[in-house]
Amino acid sequence: MSGARRPGLAAGVAAGLAAVLSLAAAGPAPRARPARHLRAEVDALAEGRACTELLYAGDTAALWERLGDALRELFGEPEKLAAFRLVVGDQLGEEEELLDEEVVDEGALRVYVRRARFAKLERPVRVTFAFSPTGRVEGFRVAPEAVAAPSEHLDYETRTPLRLPFAAGDAWTVFWGGREIEQNYHAAYLDQRFAYDFLMARDGTTHAGEGARNEDYFCFDRPVVAPGAGVVVAAGDGVPDNVPGEMNPRQPLGNHVVIDHGNGEFSFLAHFRRGTVAVEEGQRVEAGAPLGRCGNSGNSSEPHLHYHLQDAPEFQQGGRGLPSFFLDYRADGQPVARGEPVRGQVVEVPESGAETPPGGASEGR
Ligand SMILES: [Zn+2]
Repeated sequence: MSGARRPGLAAGVAAGLAAVLSLAAAGPAPRARPARHLRAEVDALAEGRACTELLYAGDTAALWERLGDALRELFGEPEKLAAFRLVVGDQLGEEEELLDEEVVDEGALRVYVRRARFAKLERPVRVTFAFSPTGRVEGFRVAPEAVAAPSEHLDYETRTPLRLPFAAGDAWTVFWGGREIEQNYHAAYLDQRFAYDFLMARDGTTHAGEGARNEDYFCFDRPVVAPGAGVVVAAGDGVPDNVPGEMNPRQPLGNHVVIDHGNGEFSFLAHFRRGTVAVEEGQRVEAGAPLGRCGNSGNSSEPHLHYHLQDAPEFQQGGRGLPSFFLDYRADGQPVARGEPVRGQVVEVPESGAETPPGGASEGR
């Protein structure tokens, strides 16, 4: 959830130096904005190699000349870039082995991704430079490659009968979800090992117009409902919705609801629109009960719903993530009796869902 413009990898890219070696970032994180159609003509492979060389050589003055305005603003002054280079050298040592390189598109940006081994770290490190269509560096990052967190719960069977936390008939896209780190950046964290970020997309985009306002986003203000029955053990409201592209890491969950399902399973739903949380602590809810509306509060770069199941009621206090199998939904139009949605799928609760008795009338929403 960062650089509303680009979550995920790009989130880190946008975060620039702030993200260096941020091994413990956590928090319902940033999401990336699905790619736009614009494609830069810049030769990102050559440019990326050139920038990497400048960085490694410590020629940060020359690198500074290539930075876009936003990144310069983020660093503040060329000296900070030089300091960044020293920190990288200090913590990682020098590059010892190039593993691979590629160029990926992130929205309008072309991102050079270099995987390499450094002297002081066992894990591969990713060096990324994101280029605008004009060849400016709009973001870069040096960070250890994320790996899926270990979990004792890979074979866990969800106890709570869970439904997707959406109104029937609303089609949501799984932006991050799945067990592999490539599908789900959350997998790097113990508590969010099996977490989801859901949003709505149409024709490959998540918003109308420029996406500068939360109201531009298709999922903004859509209803969010209880995924399962239980007792609300936390309900927070009052956190302002972010301007798309900005984040609020100090209050990572933003407006949120936590439900105790009474069986060692706790549902976390985060980033609600301010003023819409409709339940209170101690309240009993049934599956499908309205909880609030989708928003962009907390550590979120654009409106979306974060969901995860864990084995403890407190956030980031040692709880462990649990797989969440949902019942009776559609994934890419196909009925699923029980399953785990994965990145890229469009999922929805059918309007005449499982509650509908055979031959009976739909219960509607
Ligand atoms: Zn999330």
